[in-house]
Amino acid sequence: MTDLTALTLDDARKGLASGAFTAVELAEAHLAAMEAGRALNAYVLETPEQALAMAKASDARRKTGEAGRLEGIPLGIKDLYATEGVRTTAGSKILGNFVPPYESTVTKQLWRDGAVMLGKLNNDEFAMGSSNETSAFGPVVNPIPPANWSEEQARKALAGDKQGLLVPGGSSGGSSAAVAAHLCLGATATDTGGSIRQPAAFTGTVGIKPTYGRCSRWGIVAFASSLDQAGPIAKTVKDCAALMTSMAGHDPMDSTSVDMPVPDYEAAVGRSVKGLTIGIPREYRVEGMPEEIEALWKKGAEMLKAAGANIVDISLPHTKYALPAYYIVAPAEASSNLARYDGVRYGLRVPGKDIIDLYEKTRAEGFGREVKRRIMIGTYVLSAGYYDAYYLRAQKIRTLIKRDFEEVYAKGVHAVLTPATPSAAFGIGEKGSADPVEMYLNDIFTVTVNMAGLPGLALPGGTDSKGLPLGLQLIGRPFDEETLFSLGQVIEDQAGRFVARRWW
Ligand code: GLN
Repeated sequence: MTDLTALTLDDARKGLASGAFTAVELAEAHLAAMEAGRALNAYVLETPEQALAMAKASDARRKTGEAGRLEGIPLGIKDLYATEGVRTTAGSKILGNFVPPYESTVTKQLWRDGAVMLGKLNNDEFAMGSSNETSAFGPVVNPIPPANWSEEQARKALAGDKQGLLVPGGSSGGSSAAVAAHLCLGATATDTGGSIRQPAAFTGTVGIKPTYGRCSRWGIVAFASSLDQAGPIAKTVKDCAALMTSMAGHDPMDSTSVDMPVPDYEAAVGRSVKGLTIGIPREYRVEGMPEEIEALWKKGAEMLKAAGANIVDISLPHTKYALPAYYIVAPAEASSNLARYDGVRYGLRVPGKDIIDLYEKTRAEGFGREVKRRIMIGTYVLSAGYYDAYYLRAQKIRTLIKRDFEEVYAKGVHAVLTPATPSAAFGIGEKGSADPVEMYLNDIFTVTVNMAGLPGLALPGGTDSKGLPLGLQLIGRPFDEETLFSLGQVIEDQAGRFVARRWW
């Protein structure tokens, strides 16, 4: 039998339907791959008993003709999603061994449609980061080896301090690495400023951040509530569409989730893009951007043009304010959301001489450096005297960024094409240790989309001269994920998939 972990989600579905293999066999193949790939550190918790029990139940359902859309498909779940009875940490020490007594709405919907849980995936602490180096469980390794490294050299580094191996992007680095390394057929992820799209770009996988309100945030650990969205990372555009169809939907438990019917996103895959107008925003041509990224962007536009789309130059004039405004809004909301971790209600508790001392000791011990930095920035920009100067202005900028997109969409643009990241994946330990802004700059092309609440799809568009994958981003109109899937398939057909070679 061929290696079941090398299949796409869609092909695995076909194999299950035809009886070529069972859900139990498929789960077993992935559990074995997870074991062999442990050094990549993609999973923080493997749940083999649960996986096999769910797979067995799935096989039984199939026998009675009750197969759901994702029947028997093994998935990895970002550890930001609460999973009933299964430890959920958000990549932080402060949650300790927190075991949620409830299931997030999005994962509930995946299980409703027959999917199987393999385990919980590593992520940057509270989803703060762009490289998955801030996790309390240590960095995740990108399964794509650094250019010009021999397999032996890569294996040595993997067994050692991991320095120089590539980051998988963040904060959903466990999700992107697990999908790229074939340790699951698809993964859940979350995106506050780029955490689905940037990791997808760094690992040659496909990820979509849906429109704000499309997926329920209920049961997902909050980072910045007005920006957070759930979404999938998978091997192909079609696989993402399949996962999205299960993940999306209205939820009375999340007042920001929108009550709109969920389309069959898979039906949009393969649909013609003839006559669609694609905007190329000049402001995304940032200073110091490598020529290879510029070339990739051009190539992406040519692929869409070849399929009959019209390419037009557009302007999104407030783009340059997006990153600084994001790094005010996101920490502000985070500082408020993280106030609940006080050593009383959840997880870690460090005793103190009184309640204030207990709070201080618990938070000092439980939160990592990046999270503390965000809390300090957040409380500062929200404090009396600074609120108007920072937070209020950032909110105004946010409105202007949103308006930029509304104006181009009103003029007939159906989607916007940009690079997903300003560079290919970089090395572990290479960025941000001296200057956090160096790390924040990774999000330059992705944060606008969260600020405006729009959907954004990232997918491989080609490789750089060293053979590392480079991602393109398609930004859509609100609630028009379907157009992104149609356009994405056109790019995937021409650029091809990026498949990582196994060396670990
Ligand atoms: N890298 C960004 C940050 O650190 C975005 C993270 C995210 O989307 N969760 O805030």
